Amino acid sequence: MAFISTEEQVATVDVVAGNERIQAAVRVLLGELGENPDREGLIKTPERVAKALRFLTGGYEQDVDVVINDALFSVEYHEMVIVKDIDFYSLCEHHLLPFFGRCHVAYIPRDKVIGLSKLPRLVEVFSRRLQVQERLTNQIAETITAKLNPLGVAVVIEASHLCMLMRGVEKQNSKALTSAMRGVFRTDARTRTEFLNLLGFGNGDGVLRTGPERTSDDGHL
Ligand SMILES: [Zn+2]
Repeated sequence: MAFISTEEQVATVDVVAGNERIQAAVRVLLGELGENPDREGLIKTPERVAKALRFLTGGYEQDVDVVINDALFSVEYHEMVIVKDIDFYSLCEHHLLPFFGRCHVAYIPRDKVIGLSKLPRLVEVFSRRLQVQERLTNQIAETITAKLNPLGVAVVIEASHLCMLMRGVEKQNSKALTSAMRGVFRTDARTRTEFLNLLGFGNGDGVLRTGPERTSDDGHL
């Protein structure tokens, strides 16, 4: 039998009690929506919802430093490092409905690089929380800035929001586009242009193409 400290026991008891409260709340919700929470198809739904929500908001339990886990390396390299097309799934904090898409991260090292596999992990830490897309974008950029002190960081997120798509608030297939530029990505248009062109977003002048995509939170009711 594994040794469990008193602190871990208390934490486990808290999680169990918390899950029971979530389940009770979901039962109330089902009833208020006009459903019978005791019918066969729904009887285990509160339990499933509690489990799913814990998973989808698991980022609250994760510590960025543990995730990075010393995967920082001193390297003489000052060229752009890009990890693109990082799939992510998050929950909009206004409706508790999913928004999901792709995140593109770039940075230019000053004296340190981070293991490439850690960037998708960082995206996951912040996306598995209740979010708005703008804050998610900023948190990723700020964390990389704080941990790596790079010459610059750029994060672009393109995402579909079910709270808009399912309610017909915006045209189907419309995507929200957000960006966070720090350091040389902010001050040097050529660096920004290089990054945006590599993503296929550039219009040649270092400005994120807007077009049919949204670039703000307008219409997010
Ligand atoms: Zn929403």
